[in-house]
Amino acid sequence: MATVPGYSFFHNVERSFDKAAVFTTWENGLLQQIKQCNSVLQVRFPIKRENGEIVTLEAYRVQHSHHKTPCKGGIRFSNAVNQDEVMALAALMTYKCAIVNVPFGGAKGGIKINPREYTPYELEKITRRYTAELIKKNFIGPGTDVPAPDYGTGEREMAWILDTYVAMHPGEIDAAGCVTGKPVSQGGVRGRKEATGLGVFYGLSEICNMPDLMKKLGLPVGVKGKTVCVQGMGNVGYHSALFFKQAGAKIVGIAEYEGAIRSDKGLDIEEVFKHRKATGSILDFPGAENFEKTGDALEMECDILIPAALENVINSTNAARVRAKIIGEAANGPLTPEADDILNLKGVLIVPDMYLNAGGVTVSYFEWLKNLSHVRYGRIEKRFEENMNHRIVDQIEGLTGKTIGKDERDFILHGADEVDLVRSGLEETMIAATREIVEIWQSNPSIPDMRTAAYVCAINKVATSYSELGIFP
Ligand code: NAD
Repeated sequence: MATVPGYSFFHNVERSFDKAAVFTTWENGLLQQIKQCNSVLQVRFPIKRENGEIVTLEAYRVQHSHHKTPCKGGIRFSNAVNQDEVMALAALMTYKCAIVNVPFGGAKGGIKINPREYTPYELEKITRRYTAELIKKNFIGPGTDVPAPDYGTGEREMAWILDTYVAMHPGEIDAAGCVTGKPVSQGGVRGRKEATGLGVFYGLSEICNMPDLMKKLGLPVGVKGKTVCVQGMGNVGYHSALFFKQAGAKIVGIAEYEGAIRSDKGLDIEEVFKHRKATGSILDFPGAENFEKTGDALEMECDILIPAALENVINSTNAARVRAKIIGEAANGPLTPEADDILNLKGVLIVPDMYLNAGGVTVSYFEWLKNLSHVRYGRIEKRFEENMNHRIVDQIEGLTGKTIGKDERDFILHGADEVDLVRSGLEETMIAATREIVEIWQSNPSIPDMRTAAYVCAINKVATSYSELGIFP
């Protein structure tokens, strides 16, 4: 995280919340309850490294809201982890889940380590010990709190969490639902890995397809031909870039922590990924220009800028130099409120993190449902659908005397697989959320920006849930 003195991520989330709350009619006591973090767990535990050294680690799990359970949110491995950051990320999870109608309260976890400084063996020990701490304090379980991957963690860590949980809960039939983002062989769902990046793509495509928004920005409608810069080539950044490229956009800039590259002809994201794997850096990619500072990518000329690394990277020191027309917040909290103000004044459209990167939690919800139902999506109906489609196509061909071409026929006959259903559910979720937020924004001219509209949407949903519980009649 870029360091800004006196910066509190949680305070910034509260500021955005307060800015939106004035556009709602809920009483103050209820708004205060929604804003607070309900439970904060801080633990410290020792681990013995492979060289014999003993280190004490600091870790957190925050449950922001229990208006719906289980709580849900990723686990982050980063040196910048602290209580304030985890609280902010947990709060964003509550609002995110509400917007996309995922019936969970928000949570987040983190361990203050740089995973690159530890061996896989040590990371496994750390992950398992952290899981044991969560179990001891009842901060994990399919009905209480369900972690997922976040910055610095992935499928591997989720498999270790599951294995530790199962070992300590023998015979618990729904144990696989204690964590999401698992490998498919361990109860994961197909389509989870790329879900956040794909959700970012679906959300931004819907924005690009709105003629009035594009007209205001002086951009043509649609994704095709748009120029895109991405910061961070991890899970979210890589997949966002990949789906934009597949849809005909041009990825002109990519940044990683070692620097940035640019090519106006467009970068092949898969080739850049291979190049980084082979050389250890994105720099010196054939045909691209090198930039020493990763932050340079944030200031490159492009239609869409996608910060997909960490929070606070666009702040009062660099916001004025951002030249993108749309910022799609794939990372959580990449803009400080000061940057928000500067960019809103410049007329940049900021598509906010709290719903744009909700693809991960949406598909995590699908994974959790799969774990509780103990059956793969599509398993029961796929063959039935294919048989029905066959009959329909045969009837149409018989009645019309025309033959449907092979590609079209195969497409129509195909019964939905798990990944088809997951992607379809994700697309529907992201399009519906985009339209709902834009509708709130456009229906009240006093709402200044899309972030505030997203908060209004979230506050209304969480408050309705509390009031229907009878807690705040
Ligand atoms: P990741 O660890 O897979 O990737 C992050 C990448 O950013 C890494 O490649 C890292 O080297 C790079 N990076 C770090 N600092 C950088 C800098 N200053 N400039 C350029 N690159 C830098 O993490 P991720 O899962 O892709 O998460 C990225 C962001 O997306 C985080 O803010 C996370 O909270 C958010 N997010 C992730 C998910 C998910 O499903 N993984 C879901 C919602 C939100």
